[in-house]
Amino acid sequence: MKKFFEFFKKNRVRKILAAVLGFSLIRLLASFAVYLLAAGHGSFVRSVYTEKIFPVITSPMKFVASLFPFSVGEVLLIAAAVLALSGLVFCFARWIYLGVRKKKGTKGFLRLLAVVLTVGILVGGNFFVYGALNYRSLTFKEVTGIEVTPAKTDELEQLCLYLGRKATKARSVLTENDEGVICDARSDYDILKASTKGFATASKEFPCLKGYLVAPKPAIFSEMMACEQIAGIFPIVYTESIVNVIAPVYDTPFTACHELAHQLGFAQEDEANFIGFIAAIANDDPLYVYSGYYNGFSYAMNKLRSYDQDKWAAVWSDPDIDSEGISRDMRHANSIWDAYKKKAPVISRISEAVNDTYLKANDIKDGTYSYGRMVDLMLAYYRSKLPAAVSGSED
Ligand SMILES: [Zn+2]
Repeated sequence: MKKFFEFFKKNRVRKILAAVLGFSLIRLLASFAVYLLAAGHGSFVRSVYTEKIFPVITSPMKFVASLFPFSVGEVLLIAAAVLALSGLVFCFARWIYLGVRKKKGTKGFLRLLAVVLTVGILVGGNFFVYGALNYRSLTFKEVTGIEVTPAKTDELEQLCLYLGRKATKARSVLTENDEGVICDARSDYDILKASTKGFATASKEFPCLKGYLVAPKPAIFSEMMACEQIAGIFPIVYTESIVNVIAPVYDTPFTACHELAHQLGFAQEDEANFIGFIAAIANDDPLYVYSGYYNGFSYAMNKLRSYDQDKWAAVWSDPDIDSEGISRDMRHANSIWDAYKKKAPVISRISEAVNDTYLKANDIKDGTYSYGRMVDLMLAYYRSKLPAAVSGSED
């Protein structure tokens, strides 16, 4: 330990490293303390942090991200991994060399340890400063006043009919490939670039959806994310949204809008799903509209199936729902995720467990199941509109 502290006194570069390490450590401890103290003070966190501090401190990173067509965060990650590995190899080689010559060779390892420690503490601090506090903030429900109450299966069936018909209408203007699955000629980057448009429209109904948004980037590590069963990510430590583009084109728009919800400070997964749904169907891009209704329908139908199989089957046989087309899209999407799950069963299980633990650690009691709670929000949102919507008098 003494050697470690003496190491920092040697020259100017090491003194600067010591200053950065000290600052990072204080920032990490202070932000963690604020995170703990913020529990139960949602209104204060919302008005001071989420609405004022969070948009200001995340804007520079988001602006830098907006300048590049690829994920800056992933490139930085690759660079860090290469540097760390080279540093380790260099230190090891030096240690062997000095060992052969019977000289002390701990300096290289101390240097590497100091850099790794500084980067680790900086990233840990970023996690709290750039977003974890939003888990302590007011939820979308609390900000907008949307009231979630228990629903009857009849209501859920009505919602499924409504979403299925909307998805059918939206799907009818899109192009199918040879297998009858929805496709799009645009590049992944161009599709994702359109993701911010729906927020401007949606913010007329929900002003809290207004804000500086930078469209998510297609993930360089999409294959790895698919193995981990991850559709998109907003890593918080670097506030850039990334979307897995191995997923079908009719899924990525909804995922992109979900990740954008996190950029606005809404941390809860069910709410990010609901905001993603609202922003996707408000987009004037037809692919986004289908993606929103398709995903909303998919979540609602899964829930209906778990409560009432007959009602679920009745919705599928509704003459105004393109059950064949939508099922083809669903089967295609499932086949992609299942193939990667089979390819990397251990990784996908670990990833799901990590995500579940992460959400529970942030006070989301039902972990990854919380994604499906968006159905309760859709029910609450459409409650007053449903009968008219299903009979066709509402558009
Ligand atoms: Zn999310």
